[in-house]
Amino acid sequence: MTVTPPKAPIPVKQSYWQDIWDAVATILKGMAVTIRNFGRVVFLKQAMTITKKWGSRQIALRYRGTIGLTVDRRTGKENCIGCLACERICPDHCIHIETVDEKPGHKGKYPVVFIIDNNLCSLCGLCVEACPTPALIHTELWQIGGYSHRDLVLDKQRLLEIGEWQQEKWIRMGLGTVDQVTGKKSMQLTDEEWLAEEEKKRAAAAARAQRAAAARQQAPAQARPSSEHREKQPKEVSEGETSSE
Ligand code: SF4
Ligand code: SF4
Repeated sequence: MTVTPPKAPIPVKQSYWQDIWDAVATILKGMAVTIRNFGRVVFLKQAMTITKKWGSRQIALRYRGTIGLTVDRRTGKENCIGCLACERICPDHCIHIETVDEKPGHKGKYPVVFIIDNNLCSLCGLCVEACPTPALIHTELWQIGGYSHRDLVLDKQRLLEIGEWQQEKWIRMGLGTVDQVTGKKSMQLTDEEWLAEEEKKRAAAAARAQRAAAARQQAPAQARPSSEHREKQPKEVSEGETSSE
């Protein structure tokens, strides 16, 4: 059996000047990318990254950022009724709530302690979905940081501040009271919306009262036909009699 020896690799022949040209071309290509991006950032303001000096990037409305707690704008009362649904559903066990059964003027249980540990939260949004009242919302805050893990354990006061900041922002942007992530209506009404709702309620109550009054007026009129009927009977009979005649 004959074994054919492997072919010797063909030597790459490059001239001295070809090597120099390749090096220069590579540098020029790299510099072209750098200069193009420099122009986009400095002149066209199409920054890939944005320095704080130029403000921050517009966050998508449905961005699922740090969780916040809400209050009812009309009454100033907290929306949370202490049902613990969020604490139970949280897959990361990062919500801790302690409630008292009653607090004057508060509907349901009152959460005296409400903590979300942002070290653990994965922003899955299950707590927001499970909340029966619109007490929890996603905010567009993503840059919450701290010098220790303790800084990321958000207590109730901090969560309420975060929630209120987001609600105010949505209202200022003219997005009304609809939660931009869940589409739930709504945790907080603007004064104008609240007045419009009150006006609608008043109009509906007035319409109901009118209908009731009209029904009361019609009631005796409906009772009347029996007497009229009695009066008509002889006439109809007499007409019938005359027709037969
Ligand atoms: S977003 Fe998810 S992980 Fe974070 S607190 Fe809510 S349920 Fe827990
Ligand atoms: S699910 Fe909503 S109402 Fe229930 S305890 Fe959590 S935040 Fe409060």
